[in-house]
Amino acid sequence: MSKKNVEKTLVLFKPDSMQRGLVGEILTRFERVGLRIVGTKMLAPDRDHYYKHYEDIGKLKTRAGDQIFGITLDMMSAGPVIAMVFEGVEAVSLVRKLVGTTEPKSSAPGTIRGDYSHMSYGYADAEGKGIPNLIHASGDPEEAEQEIAHWFSDEELFDYEALHEKFTR
Ligand code: ADP
Repeated sequence: MSKKNVEKTLVLFKPDSMQRGLVGEILTRFERVGLRIVGTKMLAPDRDHYYKHYEDIGKLKTRAGDQIFGITLDMMSAGPVIAMVFEGVEAVSLVRKLVGTTEPKSSAPGTIRGDYSHMSYGYADAEGKGIPNLIHASGDPEEAEQEIAHWFSDEELFDYEALHEKFTR
């Protein structure tokens, strides 16, 4: 497979995975599949940063409406997050596969959202809560590029040799 299939993708450990102490356990899943960490930091961005992330790039307000957009920003602002960039062969779709679908209730067992949460849209909407689904992951390669540029400077991304890449790329 040629180099053009090697992608970078953004992952956020959302406040719920941080507060539940699940970062190490979840990170292991990304490492053991053969992804290489090329950037990482802990931060507590302001709402403006999340507005750009979820609307200017992700179009969540346009897709889901003001109410869901507002509660999602509240949920993300509830504590610090760890942002990471992973690199690997078709890394964007690989990470989405590991993470699962947006609603934990319908996320398959074996996925991060399916294994660590069982929250449903029905319950969250009735309670006026956001869906705490542990991880954000870029949706497609174009979104990944925009999100990485929004969260990381070039100097914060690193290149190094991962020995397992003899077998994983
Ligand atoms: P994903 O995170 O799977 O890419 P979206 O970009 O559609 O999904 O939504 C961003 C985040 O907004 C979701 O991960 C979830 O935390 C929250 N969210 C989306 N839809 C809903 C909803 N109907 N009710 C509550 N929260 C939602």
